[in-house]
Amino acid sequence: MAIGSLAAPPIYPTCETDFARAWLDVDVSALRHNADVLRARAGVPLLVMVKANSYGVGAVAVAHALGVPFVDQPAGARAPWGVGIASLDEAEALREAGCTGRIVCLQPLLPDELPRAHGLTVRPALHRHADIAQWRALGGDRPWHLSIDTGMARAGVRWDAVAPLAEAVAAHPPEGVFTHFHSADESIASRDQQEARFADALTTLGPALPSTALRHLDNSGAIATRAVGSPGQLARPGIALYAGMFAAELGLRQVVHLRARVIDLRDVREGESVSYGATWQAPGPRRIATVACGYADGYRRHLSNAGVVLINGVRCPVVGRVTMDMIMVDVTHTSCDLGTVATLIGRDGTDELSTEMVAALADVSPYELLVGLTLRVPPVYKAGF
Ligand SMILES: *Cc1c(COP(=O)(O)O)cnc(C)c1O
Repeated sequence: MAIGSLAAPPIYPTCETDFARAWLDVDVSALRHNADVLRARAGVPLLVMVKANSYGVGAVAVAHALGVPFVDQPAGARAPWGVGIASLDEAEALREAGCTGRIVCLQPLLPDELPRAHGLTVRPALHRHADIAQWRALGGDRPWHLSIDTGMARAGVRWDAVAPLAEAVAAHPPEGVFTHFHSADESIASRDQQEARFADALTTLGPALPSTALRHLDNSGAIATRAVGSPGQLARPGIALYAGMFAAELGLRQVVHLRARVIDLRDVREGESVSYGATWQAPGPRRIATVACGYADGYRRHLSNAGVVLINGVRCPVVGRVTMDMIMVDVTHTSCDLGTVATLIGRDGTDELSTEMVAALADVSPYELLVGLTLRVPPVYKAGF
């Protein structure tokens, strides 16, 4: 089948939650609020990170909701400068959905991938002489970004080894130049050191690098911990946009609400066990609800005997082991029926289980919790809850 003959996938997939066993409510107004907060705090336009399907939230929907230009919508007034991704498949999904905005691939591409990046009008992060020359030879004078490693030791040219690139940079100057912090939210001293190394690299490149090259350094942690705005011309938040970290500190709103229905109910007697391994025994008569979400949906197994869910606004503990498709919760102290909706992450009424809190109970980072949510919980995009 020829490329382009496929209909663009729907930007906001519809899911009939009236009949769904489990789904992910994504609050696009919270997402927009968070982008506004981060933009105001950084004081520079955003290159929003939508890699890994926007941390599991849905890259196409996130980009669209934030006002990135698509064939069916002009750039919004508060649209980010562009979106950041990590693989060309991610770029292709955005382009196929009609995204016409700037896409920067921050992860290094292999030389063989550059023609495809060119075809997708992706801005690659480059740092090898041969790659810059190849990019130039592909024609069209297409933008690219120079990637400088200032201590993360993951990608880019070392800050103290940029001199040999000066000629290639001068011949085809990059649109942007960036580095990435390894401990922005944990150590201001390490951030300062990386910033100084970045400045040294720019000094070494001197006039080879035009002063118009957009400098970008800040991830969420750096934006959150700076007393003043971000340095440079762009900032690259990811996790904070999705309220996975810094929510309380920055006044960010919960984006992700994981819901699942009660699909079975029983009364157990004192001493009777629940779930695999019989790791929980009822301390007395208890009412137990079975909720249709398990580790195959991304509800981590470490939440066994540790997680908590909201049912009718009441916090109910997860009892026994999380199974592949279901969890059991103690609903002795709340009313609940077959079909009642439980909230496993996010808000129900006035109470909220933040992504950060559930991740802590699950003993994983908020990043892993979000990207670990699987396609069995289809996202449903709504403005406000
Ligand atoms: C993932 C990533 C970010 C965003 O990081 P967060 O901690 O999620 O804000 C920014 N820049 C680069 C290069 C990244 O890989």
